[in-house]
Amino acid sequence: PTGPVVVAGGAGYIGSHCVRQLVDAGVEVIVLDNLSTGHLPAAERASRGKAKVERVDLGDPAALRELFERTKPSGVIHFAAKCYVGESVTDPAKYYRENVSYTLELLEVMRATGVDSIVFSSTCATYGEPVEIPMTEAHPQSPINPYGRTKLHMEHMIEDFAHAYGLRFAALRYFNAAGASPEGDIGEHHEPETHLIPLVLQVAQGRREKIMMFGEDYPTRDGTCVRDYIHVVDLADAHLRALAQIQQGADRIVCNLGTGTGYTVRELIELAREVTGHAVPAEVTGRREGDPAQLVSGGTRARDVLGWEPKRSELKTILEDAWRWHQGNPDGYRA
Ligand code: UDP
Repeated sequence: PTGPVVVAGGAGYIGSHCVRQLVDAGVEVIVLDNLSTGHLPAAERASRGKAKVERVDLGDPAALRELFERTKPSGVIHFAAKCYVGESVTDPAKYYRENVSYTLELLEVMRATGVDSIVFSSTCATYGEPVEIPMTEAHPQSPINPYGRTKLHMEHMIEDFAHAYGLRFAALRYFNAAGASPEGDIGEHHEPETHLIPLVLQVAQGRREKIMMFGEDYPTRDGTCVRDYIHVVDLADAHLRALAQIQQGADRIVCNLGTGTGYTVRELIELAREVTGHAVPAEVTGRREGDPAQLVSGGTRARDVLGWEPKRSELKTILEDAWRWHQGNPDGYRA
């Protein structure tokens, strides 16, 4: 297929790393982002100034349609969504609007303009509380918060469009995205920051006093939660592979993206002390609502279907790359 690839949410954390790899692979990229949580410099740096950044809101079907008619994309990679579990509990309307209803607008415009390939950011949060660890793609999907429920609605919508209208899709269910570009110029910048790794590194930098560990009474090896951290560069690689597969004829791909190895919060903090050479004071506090004890990816489907294997996802490498980004860009993308 010819024509550029639209990266919706290409100014965000995972989207920008995907833009970098597409551009480096010689693919023409159009970044579609309303910049509500994305950062213009992320898209500009990621694309080495090569991608066109279209500040369009998925909630604006006329602008979206104009963009698709003008640029005639060959496919879409869809990262644009709200992603805070806590916020989804207090403001579910935002999540149903901006995740579910905006995705419907995007799919409708794709259908109207004959664009039939989409790679979609799904999440292990669609599984809910694990009934078994590790979790394969066959694990029941029973999300425990509005964020996970909206992502599951998005998966269902895409599947139904595929069945009825011939949409070809890949739904990639990420575990814990982490790390930064090895070049150190693009990385994670959320406001507010709630994720463990950037917070731990901010403590190492002396920008925060200490890291609070949410709960030490979980049924895990040291009582803290276990997560499967996957490098954002490995995630991006999986998207390029998935897009190539569906553009070469695969019509339905559903894959977990994780390493299959979990680390506890305590283990991660200890490794961060080693990588940064700083003390990283930590203190135990109560559990955070909605946190499953363990989330670890299982099975080999991504390897079997996409030929994908994590290459930079040793937790030490993830922390080293994230540390380089934080050291070089202490204020993230803020000028
Ligand atoms: N966590 C923590 N303290 C923090 C932030 C997170 O103990 O300040 C824990 C959280 O409870 C979870 C793990 O670190 O078990 C990863 O949390 P994060 O928010 O990074 O990702 P999530 O698993 O929620 O997607």
